[in-house]
Amino acid sequence: MSDLRGFLRELDSQGLLLHIGEMLSTRFEIAAVMRHLDGRPLLFERVEGYRHRVAAGLCSSRDLIHRALGVEGGQLYERLLQAVRNPRRCEVGDGPVKERVVDRPKLSQLPILTHFEGDPGPYITSAALYAKTPDGEVENVSIHRLLVLDDHRLTLRIVPRHLYRIVEAARESGVESIDVSISIGLHPAVLLAASTPAPYGVSEFDVANTLMDGGLKLTECEHVDALAPADAELVLEGRLKVDETAVEGPFVDLTGTYDVERRQPVIEVVGAMYRADYIYQALLPSGREHRLLMGLPREARIWEYVRGITPHVRGVNLTSGGCGWLHCVVSIRKVREGDPKNVLMAVFAAHPSLKHAVVVDEDIDPYNLEEVEWAIATRFRGDEDLLIIPHVRVSSLDPASDQRLELGCKVGVDATRPLSKPERHFKRAEIPMSERVRRLLGRLGCI
Ligand code: MN
Repeated sequence: MSDLRGFLRELDSQGLLLHIGEMLSTRFEIAAVMRHLDGRPLLFERVEGYRHRVAAGLCSSRDLIHRALGVEGGQLYERLLQAVRNPRRCEVGDGPVKERVVDRPKLSQLPILTHFEGDPGPYITSAALYAKTPDGEVENVSIHRLLVLDDHRLTLRIVPRHLYRIVEAARESGVESIDVSISIGLHPAVLLAASTPAPYGVSEFDVANTLMDGGLKLTECEHVDALAPADAELVLEGRLKVDETAVEGPFVDLTGTYDVERRQPVIEVVGAMYRADYIYQALLPSGREHRLLMGLPREARIWEYVRGITPHVRGVNLTSGGCGWLHCVVSIRKVREGDPKNVLMAVFAAHPSLKHAVVVDEDIDPYNLEEVEWAIATRFRGDEDLLIIPHVRVSSLDPASDQRLELGCKVGVDATRPLSKPERHFKRAEIPMSERVRRLLGRLGCI
């Protein structure tokens, strides 16, 4: 089960995949349904003007990601960190993505969605982009939003990370373009690996291969010098022009607000490989899937940092309301009075984009925000438990901060109970439960 279809079959066998039979347009209609059913995996069977189906929301809950990776919730971070440390080389051969190979495909013939009313055009949002340096030494796989400019050209947002460095290396060595593959319709493990900040030089396909126990096979592209998953649904083969740019945006990013427009590089699409009946994979910008794929790898890193300070970490939650990026709740076992403020500093160091963080005691479920608020209400004192760090680097996505300089303010909240007061003052009162009450509540599905 190393491909999108295998995962769709598994979801279907559990009754978890919602099939939508109504004819719907790629322009706003599919995105509107995705937004209202956010958190559920969907398969759009009939797409107006196209004969291909569209899958969506396959990583839109923690439970779906745990299922896809075959892990219990508590093991995810360790699995992810272990895969980043032990990338496993993928085998290269042929695969179902080569059922059809075409020259210069027309992008208007693909069911690419237009999501929001102010979008400049259709955006590909779930593609893994593979590129390497001109000397072939460094490979990289990352997810980028790709705006369709016309039938043969895309532009994409490249933040200053690994692909950016590869483009810079290409410019320095005097080449005009970099060959890239753009893979769509992938197993969740591949999307998660491509979203994970592995060190420069590590191919995220190899990280995915470790996550999948050696189940990811790659294939050589037909028109460009690049690799792509052999069991992807669809691969676009392109040349990223080092010195040709176009206006990218405005795009609705993680926050659900419009990001600013920028001039970004252009990709010319020169070929495509796909399964004859490929399924196009969609991802709603700012939806739960977007927030989880961005946030989960960061949660793993925060977890690792916090464990260096206090060994008992119940959980880390980059909350959905905080865009999976700006707000974090960490639940720890507090041993010394000063632990939570050290934890707050570690959390901010682990994820520099973070804006607000809350530390709670181990009895508080960090994924239950009503419990978290209760902890703030009953255990937090503004004069002693607040950490304010002004004039510090924050996310470029936060519209309340200086987005150009990425400068803002971080706030930490220590909502753990003070050790100087008796524990009983802070415990939630319990009600004894008899066997028959337990049975009754069990039948009602409450426990
Ligand atoms: Mn990378």
